[in-house]
Amino acid sequence: MGTVYLVGAGPGAPDLLTLRAAKLLAQADIVFYDALVHPETIALAEHAEKIPVGKRCGKASTAQRFINKRLVDAAQKYQIVVRLKGGDPMLFGRAQEEIEALENASIQYEIVPGITAALAASADLGISLTRRGISRSVTFVTPRVGPGEAENDWVQSVIGADTVALYMASGEAKEISARLISAGKSENTPVAIVENASLSNRRTTFSTLGNLGADIAQLELSGPALILLGEVYRQHANQLIEEVILEQLSA
Ligand code: SAH
Repeated sequence: MGTVYLVGAGPGAPDLLTLRAAKLLAQADIVFYDALVHPETIALAEHAEKIPVGKRCGKASTAQRFINKRLVDAAQKYQIVVRLKGGDPMLFGRAQEEIEALENASIQYEIVPGITAALAASADLGISLTRRGISRSVTFVTPRVGPGEAENDWVQSVIGADTVALYMASGEAKEISARLISAGKSENTPVAIVENASLSNRRTTFSTLGNLGADIAQLELSGPALILLGEVYRQHANQLIEEVILEQLSA
């Protein structure tokens, strides 16, 4: 019986991968990879059979239960099975379901961490998630609720944190902004939006909670995007608003 490695592929750029991940890919017999993983990262698995199981919002995806079964089956056949996931496997990656399936089948597994999107986005922005005197807490949150899943109170966790990274949220930005404002979050809360973090085609922009819906619509996002909220973005968000006002005045 082989071992299954749940490996973080990092946020996008193929060189933001751990050495451990690269080594495992080079040794892998079979790799199951997510949609957001860079082709150059997958290519590191020179000898492996490579199987896409990715999901990309709205598009066809392999059902999670089927992925779990394929991992279990692969471990009966191969020594080194790699399950390559975007960012870090332990954050919004359904790793626990795969871990449970492997445990139930008494299959050995190991987790290899990766750089999650919020950390790459912060690097792109050049703005720290925490800052002395301004932000001492960071929340990773998704408003996305799967079918049949109970909605937990993501709104309260956003309100309770100094800095917030919203995953899988850009498609519903307008609703999110309305929910947060009606729960008491200020319309002027500064926002940063980062699309394709860490990649050469990344785009970063600033907004406010009140303008989030309109500003995101204007971006016509095509890649994965993160919405970040908090006072740490105020200076940049204000600067952008001033520039827009100046432009309007001079037009
Ligand atoms: N496990 C992953 C997250 C998977 S959920 C991680 O740790 O990063 C997928 C969501 O992550 C996307 O909807 C988007 O919000 C975010 N995301 C992933 N890659 C991104 C990137 N390169 N730039 C911006 N956001 C990204």
